[in-house]
Amino acid sequence: MLRTQVVIIGAGPSGLLLSQLLHLQGIDSVVLEQRSRDYVAARIRAGLLEQHSVDLLVEAGAGERLQRECLVHDGFLMAWEGEVHRIDLHALAGKRVTVYGQTEIQQDLAEVRARSGGDIRYEATDVRLHDITTARPRVSCTHRDQAVEIECDFIAGCDGYHGVSRRSIPAEVLRTYERVYPFGWLGVLAEVPPLNDELVYANHSRGFALCSMRSRTRSRYYLQCPLEDTVEQWSDQRFWDELRQRLPAAHAARMTTGPSIEKSIAPLRSFVAEPMRYGQLFLAGDAAHIVPPTGAKGLNLATADVRVLHRGLTEFYRNRGRTLLDEYSQRALSRVWKATRFSWWFTTLMHKFGEDPFALQMQRAELTYIASSRAGAQTVAENYAGLDFDPDVVAAIR
Ligand SMILES: Cc1cc2nc3c(=O)[nH]c(=O)nc-3n(C[C@H](O)[C@H](O)[C@H](O)COP(=O)(O)OP(=O)(O)OC[C@H]3O[C@@H](n4cnc5c(N)ncnc54)[C@H](O)[C@@H]3O)c2cc1C
Repeated sequence: MLRTQVVIIGAGPSGLLLSQLLHLQGIDSVVLEQRSRDYVAARIRAGLLEQHSVDLLVEAGAGERLQRECLVHDGFLMAWEGEVHRIDLHALAGKRVTVYGQTEIQQDLAEVRARSGGDIRYEATDVRLHDITTARPRVSCTHRDQAVEIECDFIAGCDGYHGVSRRSIPAEVLRTYERVYPFGWLGVLAEVPPLNDELVYANHSRGFALCSMRSRTRSRYYLQCPLEDTVEQWSDQRFWDELRQRLPAAHAARMTTGPSIEKSIAPLRSFVAEPMRYGQLFLAGDAAHIVPPTGAKGLNLATADVRVLHRGLTEFYRNRGRTLLDEYSQRALSRVWKATRFSWWFTTLMHKFGEDPFALQMQRAELTYIASSRAGAQTVAENYAGLDFDPDVVAAIR
């Protein structure tokens, strides 16, 4: 049987970042990932980072290309019924956000882990957790046709929403909260310059639209669409025509179109599982919580979990201190719930839910309030750019 200090399940951003930060503290880990390295590296997902995520990637030694290639934004635009209002993140919240694709982060983390001799086992199937509530938990899997069993001190469940870790917690212990939204996001990635320097969020009677980007030459655009739609129903031409209709006229007029590199439909969901710890198992990232992407919080919550968890594990290995690990779930969830609230609120504000005239008036009233009140705009800016960590968390992880 193999032995390591921490078995990490999942080599997404949470798993790789955690294993690299632990490595820098002299803590060994083995990462088990069910997919191939190429598959994981190619997934197109998030693209907007709060400053604390950038700082943690730099601290992990995976920030060099990010700092060279990223785009830093001081604000974003909200559009509705011919109105366009800019949320000035820097003036209102004293913060900025960073555009850098999750695909790039994934590659940077994989490279930095490979350089530092990280033990990452891709294509590990049938991963199972054993004896989680004992001091000697184990994880078994099949890797390269061999049965593998690893004994460890802790297991980090970084295996996303569909992973095995959360499902290893008994149903009577785990409490889950869920909101499924009645629409999806049709996303298109295209090698065309973004139509605006900053992101544009549009509330339109035909449905929500978002114009985002991954670089100065690569755009990531989204349309709210029915859940039943398939990508085959959406030719590139149909996508560009529909997007043009949902944007303010001036922005639509300067949109450059081109062939899509990637096109996908994602359902939208809010989901929180608590507690995020069971015995020696700690959940981090999408394994414990999912937010609709409207507020760009998913990846940022994952890095926030990793920030607290790696400090807790470091404290344990330095002086056998358990306080941070014991408080991990409560500290992580405090931030998770606030981001869940903001993502739900922003989704509710910007999407079309039906023809209910009262709901439409509430959206209009809220949008005009934000546009006319510094307090209203400041609340949006503060949440969008990323809340400060609670002072007790800052004190605990210092
Ligand atoms: C289509 C899509 C679009 C998104 N867009 C945005 C966005 O615009 N902005 C934003 O902030 N967030 C977005 N997100 C969310 C963001 O990508 C996630 O929050 C982020 O990937 C979380 O990282 P993670 O490492 O916790 O989980 P994941 O990235 O899901 O990684 C989990 C890893 O575990 C592996 N795994 C799963 N099960 C097992 C198993 N049984 N054994 C071993 N390994 C396993 C998976 O293969 C995966 O590599 C999006 C997510 C999706 C799915």
